Amino acid sequence: MLTRRNLGRALAGLPALAAIAFNEAATAAPVRSKLPLVMLDPGHGGMDPGAIGVSGTYEKYIAINTALELRRQLEATGRYRVGLTRSSDVFIPLQERVAIAQHNGASLFVSMHADAISDPSVRGASVYTLATHPSDAQSAMLAQSENAADRFASGHYKAPTQDVANILASLVRRETRTESAVMQHAVVQNLAQKVPLLVNPARHAGFIVLESAVIPSVLVEMGFMSNRLDEAALRQPAHRAIVAAALRGAVDKYFASVDNGTPVAG
Ligand code: ZN
Repeated sequence: MLTRRNLGRALAGLPALAAIAFNEAATAAPVRSKLPLVMLDPGHGGMDPGAIGVSGTYEKYIAINTALELRRQLEATGRYRVGLTRSSDVFIPLQERVAIAQHNGASLFVSMHADAISDPSVRGASVYTLATHPSDAQSAMLAQSENAADRFASGHYKAPTQDVANILASLVRRETRTESAVMQHAVVQNLAQKVPLLVNPARHAGFIVLESAVIPSVLVEMGFMSNRLDEAALRQPAHRAIVAAALRGAVDKYFASVDNGTPVAG
């Protein structure tokens, strides 16, 4: 079976020219190009505000501001290249976000959100991976509202139905699923030391933005805009820096685990 790992091994056996053609960046910046690319995906943007908080905060601004802080922290380690699916206030359809990550050869995809749910008393961070069957009703509703973001796309764009999302989920490779779970576990562990968590914070559902078959992907709900305390916290740059630091630590743990070749999902 051709996996990302044995593809790398196969390429190592080919003439140098083939290897360079596979990774054009290698000719421009040989050292830098060896660093793994972490693709951050700030949710929503442009005409799609995402959830609107109880005191009027737009999720899209929380998402981009935290992603920019996380990029700064990740780049400061010198261990990663960091990409953003959007670095300004623009709308990008969900599958295009996945395509951006794939075209750039990302090693890890982290989608960042702070959505709303129906019960305003519910608060805390949670982390999602893709699955055909949702872990619980709340996660199913979250995925449904996230997947509906594409209704903001102009023209004749037609968002995939939930059934299509389910079929795609079943096609995601086992290795990708295992590594997504490794990252999910690392994020939950790190966030738990710093911020309140939702009950059972490691959850799964049919999020379209997590559908890459080859890039381990997680979606982080940093808190809920529907909760007054979460919204107030996420409005503070100091709190967003704490969340970003926890995620940066999780990225470190993730690569330490998969680079050892023994990813263990907890
Ligand atoms: Zn969202």
